[in-house]
Amino acid sequence: SASKTRVYKIVILGEGGVGKSALVIQFVSHRFTDYHDPTIEDAYTQQARIDGEPAKLDILDTAGQLEFTTMREQYMRHGEGFIICYSITDRRSFDEVLAHKNLIDRVRCHENIPIIVTGNKCDLEQKRKVSTEEGMHLAEQLGAPFFETSAVLRQCVDDVFHGIVREIRKKEHEE
Ligand code: GDP
Ligand code: MG
Repeated sequence: SASKTRVYKIVILGEGGVGKSALVIQFVSHRFTDYHDPTIEDAYTQQARIDGEPAKLDILDTAGQLEFTTMREQYMRHGEGFIICYSITDRRSFDEVLAHKNLIDRVRCHENIPIIVTGNKCDLEQKRKVSTEEGMHLAEQLGAPFFETSAVLRQCVDDVFHGIVREIRKKEHEE
């Protein structure tokens, strides 16, 4: 029954403006939001069937700076899988991916936490500052699957959210 559906606690991290909220809202509501208050930290739930198995995704859309606040520590501690997002049009957001990974490692004492790296805004090819190869290489270093997404075109959006559930399941089967 629905009440028995496994809940997956997912956190999306990344610099402000990379499209975290747009990705989450596109995944949950199948629409593109041009503006979402950058200071709002909100949780969304979405039922999905992933590889034939039901899942309830509990997604925290984070906001604000890369700081070690009490609230941040709370969700960093409880997340089962993390999506680290940058924008392919913003080199600085790409450079911040490692800082987010380090924060996860710090809170979780280097426990092997499922991560996915996503380069968003891939519809803006003419403004690209980070190559696909660089993204792939960084993700490989972190042992994470990699996708280039577009919240506008809904490109690879399901792959990212389903992918993080797959990573969590993979880890569970290994344990
Ligand atoms: P957040 O701060 O990471 O949550 O970023 P938002 O979701 O608020 O998005 C920041 C800005 O980037 C907004 O103007 C969005 O409309 C825009 N945006 C988000 N995703 C995409 C995308 O995939 N392509 C394009 N072209 N713009 C996007
Ligand atoms: Mg946001």
